[in-house]
Amino acid sequence: MKTIIEPFRIKSVEPIRMTTRAQREKYIRNAHYNLFGLKSDQVLIDLLTDSGTSAMSSDQWAAIQRGDESYAGSESYFRFYEAVTAIMPFKHVIPTHQGRAAEKILFSVISGENKKIPNNTHFDTTRANIEYTGATAVDLVIEEGKKPQSIHPFKGNMDAKALRKFIDDVGPKSIPCVMLTLTNNSGGGQPVSMENIKEIRQICKKYKLPLIFDACRFAENAYFIKIREDGYSNKSIKEICKEMFSLADGCTMSAKKDALVNIGGFLCLNDDDWAAKSRNLLILTEGFPTYGGLAGRDLDAIAVGLHEILEEDYLHYRIRSTEYLGEKINAAGVPIVLPVGGHAVYIDAKEMLPHIPVAEFPGQALAIELYLAGGIRGCEIGSVMFGESAQMELVRLAIPRRVYTQSHVDYVIEVIIDVFKRRNELKGVRIVYQPEVLRHFTCHFDFVSHN
Ligand SMILES: *Cc1c(COP(=O)(O)O)cnc(C)c1O
Repeated sequence: MKTIIEPFRIKSVEPIRMTTRAQREKYIRNAHYNLFGLKSDQVLIDLLTDSGTSAMSSDQWAAIQRGDESYAGSESYFRFYEAVTAIMPFKHVIPTHQGRAAEKILFSVISGENKKIPNNTHFDTTRANIEYTGATAVDLVIEEGKKPQSIHPFKGNMDAKALRKFIDDVGPKSIPCVMLTLTNNSGGGQPVSMENIKEIRQICKKYKLPLIFDACRFAENAYFIKIREDGYSNKSIKEICKEMFSLADGCTMSAKKDALVNIGGFLCLNDDDWAAKSRNLLILTEGFPTYGGLAGRDLDAIAVGLHEILEEDYLHYRIRSTEYLGEKINAAGVPIVLPVGGHAVYIDAKEMLPHIPVAEFPGQALAIELYLAGGIRGCEIGSVMFGESAQMELVRLAIPRRVYTQSHVDYVIEVIIDVFKRRNELKGVRIVYQPEVLRHFTCHFDFVSHN
């Protein structure tokens, strides 16, 4: 086996800044120990999110120049439409400014008081948009998907038996659609198998319920199907994607993930009535149906990105480089969510820092130290973010697409292992200020002292 290399060379570069620990101590103190409060130039390796942080290709930048900025009927829209439907053969394709705008429109049309929408695990914006209409968002991921250390090739699968029971209990009339999130972001970027998609499809068919994908990382999901599921190793990623989408009635998509762009999204539907109602709302909040909150050039960049994301060399490098980071730190003893998902590595901070009680936010303590030790910015996913309903205390290291090289990743590994060796020195934190909602973005912390 030879080294898996980045399947691209670098044409344009952006400097990242080295800082000293003393400088970082000052920066993070000024940010009240909240990593969202740092300026990006105070960060060396930014693993806060993989959303909208991709590097575009020279072909995408060329496509930006071709953008047709006509208000209606823009050529860019038709190139975008062709690119989307080549993979996702739905009847209606509605552009939006990002994934949550597609969610907001879809749920305004189909959801409401007393409705219930099941998913493997709802992403936070999906859940929030469903709940905003008065409906309930229900998570039905398989049991293995809830345990960080349990090994399963498709930990994102939905529990089919639980879905059947759920439909029988609440009645199909209160369920406007069933959703599947590919890959399951909130569950650690874990994939859903084709077998599971087919099984869920059968159940939906029986009860006449539409199946909608949250398709943000559809290509990463298809690659996992290719390498892990029987019968798919000889199929192309495009064939697998087409098979996946042929089993759904529509999808919401954030182009900031697997369309390799910095902004954009879309909503796909087969149902004419839902599509007509969605376009009416689109005009109200996003824009005319052939641009939907985006510039023509953005639509062209998405069209090219959707083509590039299907390249197997890219997906091989993408999935393997995420796994490489997880494997190396795990081999050194760092507890992580296993198996490594597609877009991020999750460190189990509760397991790593047993001397810091959950009330003193072990995930935040670890995220702060990773920044102090090496200028790395990760994201606490635990009690700071979810309060008392947090299931785990994790630090997510999300990998931007095509941005960092293997030496950057090797550096991250060295920093994490160094912090792991000194883990007993880490101190817990407390919250000294918090806003009323979504506190993780803006709350202030300080270290706890036990003297
Ligand atoms: C990012 C994301 C969204 C929301 O998309 P935005 O473009 O950030 O609005 C929805 N679902 C999943 C699974 C996501 O990862």
